[in-house]
Amino acid sequence: MIDKVTKKQLLINGAWIDAKEYSPLCSPYTGEVLAEIPMATEEETDQAIDAAQKAAKVMAKMPAHQRAKVLETLAQLLEKRREEAAQIISMESAKPITTAKGEVDRTIETYKFAAEEAKRIHGETLSMDAARGGENRLAYTVREPIGVIGAITPFNFPMNLVAHKVGPAIAAGNTIVLKPASQTPLSSLFIAELLQEAGLPKGALNVVTGGGRVVGDKLVTDSRVNMITFTGSPAVGIGISNKAGLKRVTLELGSNAAVIIDKGVDIDKIISRCVMGAFSNQGQVCISLQRIYAHEEIYDRFVEKFIEATKLLKVGDPLNPETDVSALISQNDVERTLNWIEEAKQDGAAIATGGIREGNILHPTVILDADSHLKVSCQEVFAPIVLINKIQTVEEAINLVNDSKYGLQAGIYTDNVHTALDAAENLQVGGVMINDIPTFRVDNMPYGGVKESGTGREGLKYAVEDMTEMKLIVWNRN
Ligand code: NAP
Repeated sequence: MIDKVTKKQLLINGAWIDAKEYSPLCSPYTGEVLAEIPMATEEETDQAIDAAQKAAKVMAKMPAHQRAKVLETLAQLLEKRREEAAQIISMESAKPITTAKGEVDRTIETYKFAAEEAKRIHGETLSMDAARGGENRLAYTVREPIGVIGAITPFNFPMNLVAHKVGPAIAAGNTIVLKPASQTPLSSLFIAELLQEAGLPKGALNVVTGGGRVVGDKLVTDSRVNMITFTGSPAVGIGISNKAGLKRVTLELGSNAAVIIDKGVDIDKIISRCVMGAFSNQGQVCISLQRIYAHEEIYDRFVEKFIEATKLLKVGDPLNPETDVSALISQNDVERTLNWIEEAKQDGAAIATGGIREGNILHPTVILDADSHLKVSCQEVFAPIVLINKIQTVEEAINLVNDSKYGLQAGIYTDNVHTALDAAENLQVGGVMINDIPTFRVDNMPYGGVKESGTGREGLKYAVEDMTEMKLIVWNRN
């Protein structure tokens, strides 16, 4: 359990230190104060960057087997404290506890994958004599750590998305200054404690909690930070990219993910999966299923069964293992989404179920016949809201999916292999899921988007590539 109203500390250079300023952290569900969180100043962030820079030499020299060992030990420690970790996630983010346990399990796996990746970072030999003038040269590449990495993370997967940055950064021999989301700092502080116990050298991970503008801006603009790895909203991501100059930046941003359901698909087989994709973690998932395009031949049956299954979802306390849908992350988000639903209503869309609030909970909401210009369609809703629209052909649906400023993942259910191949070729996204929802993700696959969904790929192997610098060595044997 969280020690209630504990005063937390910053982790800088291996030491837990008090900050100058504090702010209360409140539960999104009950509103109760969970802890007092340090709001780091620019000066404190500066100290963390300094510590990371000094530790960079130590980490760069640490053998791969030792880096792997630290990550393996972390995974073991987390396995032992799985229940506690899930409670922390659930309390600070209102993630239903069953889903939070799933996130802890994924986090353990992410660190195990990172440990494995640490052992297979390598370059390649090159055939220099393929070029005129390249004869009698022996050439190879090596991959070196990039140095200090500024990691900025969102609230919605406060443990596993941190693992997708901290894991590959350590695997590659880098150091990190981590700035978690202000609403979910406890998961990061918990992991930092375990990493210290696992034997990570001091200064290799520094955790600086505080506001995005103060801590985030310092990380993005400080020349000692070699790379920014950011997961969060497109608006903040684009701002970071504009400020970062030549610093390497990877951006994992949002989307309004869609699935296409072709005629002939066995509806009964896919309903529960689609409902889960739309409402899991209150729809606060970057690949949450927001738009469903169902073929006219199966549309009515699909809608009926989807609404029936949605109405069975249990809303309530995130710590109750029966709960499917709990509070949104903030009251502002509840109000924003209610406004968007109202806009859809005014435009003639039908609210088939949901559309009501209970405290900070928005009941799972299904909207029919929403036009593509509406905010619930063209913006990222990040709430338990899904649209179901009728299409006549898969081609029409592909155009609708692509008519978006985002492009993270998309899904298509079809029994026709030619249709599946066409969709794979024509959908403008980072990943196409055939016979699955766009919400599918396992942690070793390449994951990232196109357009305003970002640039770069996570998934340990791919993140390690981004977090290392390729160096070429050429021997002249003449
Ligand atoms: P957010 O508001 O963009 O915040 C993300 C992080 O950026 C937080 O740590 C935030 O700090 C920080 N930040 C805010 N302003 C900043 C600035 N000016 N400079 C540097 N950092 C700044 O996003 P969120 O609401 O936490 O998360 C939801 C978003 O993340 C959604 O759009 C979702 O789709 C996206 N997401 C994407 C993926 C993916 O892998 N593609 C995964 C999960 C989530 P504060 O909390 O202190 O404001």
